[in-house]
Amino acid sequence: MGMLENELREELSGLERDGLRRDLRVISGGHAGRAQYDGRSFIMLSSNNYLGLAGDSRVRRAAISAVERYGVGAGASRLIAGSFDPLHQLEARIAGIKGTEAALVFGSGYLANLGVVTALMGRGDVIFSDELNHASLVDGCRLSKASVQVYRHCDVAHLKAIVEQAAPARRRLIVTESIFSMDGDCAPLNEILTLARQFGAALMIDEAHAFGVIGPHGAGLAAESGLGHEIEVQIGTLSKAVGAYGAYVAGSRVLIDFLINRARSFIYTTALPPAIAAAAQAAIDIIVSEPERIRRLWDNSAYLRGRLEAAGFTLGRSQSPMLPLMIGESHVALEMASRLFARGVYIVAIRPPTVPPGTARLRLTPISEHTRADLDEAIAALIESGRELGLVGP
Ligand SMILES: *Cc1c(COP(=O)(O)O)cnc(C)c1O
Repeated sequence: MGMLENELREELSGLERDGLRRDLRVISGGHAGRAQYDGRSFIMLSSNNYLGLAGDSRVRRAAISAVERYGVGAGASRLIAGSFDPLHQLEARIAGIKGTEAALVFGSGYLANLGVVTALMGRGDVIFSDELNHASLVDGCRLSKASVQVYRHCDVAHLKAIVEQAAPARRRLIVTESIFSMDGDCAPLNEILTLARQFGAALMIDEAHAFGVIGPHGAGLAAESGLGHEIEVQIGTLSKAVGAYGAYVAGSRVLIDFLINRARSFIYTTALPPAIAAAAQAAIDIIVSEPERIRRLWDNSAYLRGRLEAAGFTLGRSQSPMLPLMIGESHVALEMASRLFARGVYIVAIRPPTVPPGTARLRLTPISEHTRADLDEAIAALIESGRELGLVGP
């Protein structure tokens, strides 16, 4: 046995001891609120497919007809082999919904965050970053070589204090999620933008959990807050509520032209497959034409929250459909997830380093397509499992 393998096995055992090991679970099918494992059907409360569009028949058809026309892979990066028109149509559609001059599609949200932060920021610049920002933003900050100042979660007073103390810099950028992925709370965008203006900083937001979930036509929290035209850099994914894959950056024409020339995770990677862009556009059309989906999503979430809080669970400070059921200890969260799984409910335990130590949780994402019967079944399983583990009273 090689030395490397022994060391890795040792590290994995450490993760297992601490309740932090992760393993893949094979899904054989399912969408719209249910999934199949091992021939059994589960209520899926862990996907980000908020509107059930990943499996929508119209979205599937759009992808299939684009595959027939353009093939599967894009063949090369967009600057090398030319840029398929479904991506351009999608970008125009996104810019229209976001109310920005332009948009640019990236291969994924991870790539977008990495590419945008590193293109905009470098040595001699300073980034102010919320402490709960997504790993892809954190990695972008690290890779940029800018000075990174972390402020307490959504704490504008703390942000102000560190912006005031920061040494003069070539460029300043405040970076935050709009709806936070693991807590579901909203950044105070108005106050942050005011501060940014006051101190000559630009603002970049990540709307991964807001696009398709909130705002006019699901345009996100910036649009909901009336800031669609004001926030310089707006990122969102096409992989969550939109149900496809990829991500966008929306902003001024100049920003987009600059990113085409400078964002390494745009330049040096193969383009998003055209069929995925066509699927994303079909999904966006549905989000716009069927606003009741977003309403059902929020209604389902309110119902789930009400029933779980009445049963004595602690649900955290979410202001979005995603509900963090707070547990604390990683081992307990894992045990809870495994008891739920035995009862036919799939909810993954979210543990460090995805969330801060001691804040392990179950992250519940009801979607628009869950029926009340689905939710009632999940609620019953949550209450039974929670009682067995002493998380809620009898
Ligand atoms: C999921 C997520 C991403 C990454 O997006 P992908 O398209 O899945 O790569 C980025 N930021 C946040 C806040 C996310 O939740």
